[in-house]
Amino acid sequence: MKSQIKKIENYVPEEPIENVKSRLGLKKLIRLSANENPFGTSPKVKQAILNWSFSEENRYPDGYASNLRQSVAQYIGVAPEKLVFGVGLDEIITMISRIFLEKDDEVLLSKPTFSEYALHASIEGAKVIEIPCIPETGNYNFAEFLSQLTDKTKLIWVCNPNNPTGTYEDRTTLKHFFDKIPANVLILLDEAYIDYVTKDDEGSFIAELENYPNLMVLRTFSKVYGIANYRVGYAAMNEKLANYMQSVRLPYNLNSLAQVAACAALADQKFVTESVNKTELERKNWENFFSKNKIKYYNSQANFIFFYYPNANELADELLKNGYQIRRGLLNNWLRITIGTVSDGLVLRKIISEYNLK
Ligand SMILES: *Cc1c(COP(=O)(O)O)cnc(C)c1O
Repeated sequence: MKSQIKKIENYVPEEPIENVKSRLGLKKLIRLSANENPFGTSPKVKQAILNWSFSEENRYPDGYASNLRQSVAQYIGVAPEKLVFGVGLDEIITMISRIFLEKDDEVLLSKPTFSEYALHASIEGAKVIEIPCIPETGNYNFAEFLSQLTDKTKLIWVCNPNNPTGTYEDRTTLKHFFDKIPANVLILLDEAYIDYVTKDDEGSFIAELENYPNLMVLRTFSKVYGIANYRVGYAAMNEKLANYMQSVRLPYNLNSLAQVAACAALADQKFVTESVNKTELERKNWENFFSKNKIKYYNSQANFIFFYYPNANELADELLKNGYQIRRGLLNNWLRITIGTVSDGLVLRKIISEYNLK
């Protein structure tokens, strides 16, 4: 066994909702800990699954995900050859680490950020260098990233908006930073939450792909598209990098139902827009609430908010008792809550207000 594996802590996946309920004796449980779409899934996805010809279950799926590839390529405006699909971004992150990292390579990432970047770097025996976010705003400390660059630096992870801080870096800031990164260092831009950005009309950085041959942009169907269960994510990059990725990708990674579901989800942009609009309104409600109650939080452009609470674990327990699960354990005394429906928000904010007075 690789010696580095012994030191690695397992990623703990979300416990199934039914298990949590029976373990805690809860009648209902609303999960706001995994940034899933609280408005469910487009009904068009179910229809597409039901319309699938159940005649090819004995056959391997389309290993090139041709239909989905065409649809995504057209939607984001890149050539189909520049796309690599994975069983969620989880698999894309695994593939990237597997291909590009060797023992003692260095990986730069922000702290806190999505834990899988560090996990897979460690599995490959690479050295993870965590650069704390700017404490006041939660934004990336890009100056510090630049000062940590060495000739061992292989990968730089940028999550935008960042999970769990929710903070957003605008295109100009990213460009200034990316322009200073040497061509032999790979920049991974994780845009899992980019659809939720409403601050300006910049949208995805994919439009800039041509200008950065060492850039990959990662997107997923698990969040605003509401099909986390089907496991579909993808990355866009230049063709040379895409070829490396294709050579290690498992040939039939996406099953047919996942491909069908993702096509249907992509086609229903009305569902996406409505989800984003509802999230934006409720995000404002949360920001107003936190401001009014002098609870420190970071400005979010995602479908979750990260906030500081002196006894965070006790507050999370109180919410859980009331049937709401939120995310703890990402940073000491900080909690991350997925932005849910307005009605759940009203109940949650009432519970927190009352708890505040105790
Ligand atoms: C949820 C999430 C992912 C993983 O998404 P999947 O496609 O479901 O594997 C990737 N990156 C970030 C930042 C996430 O929050």
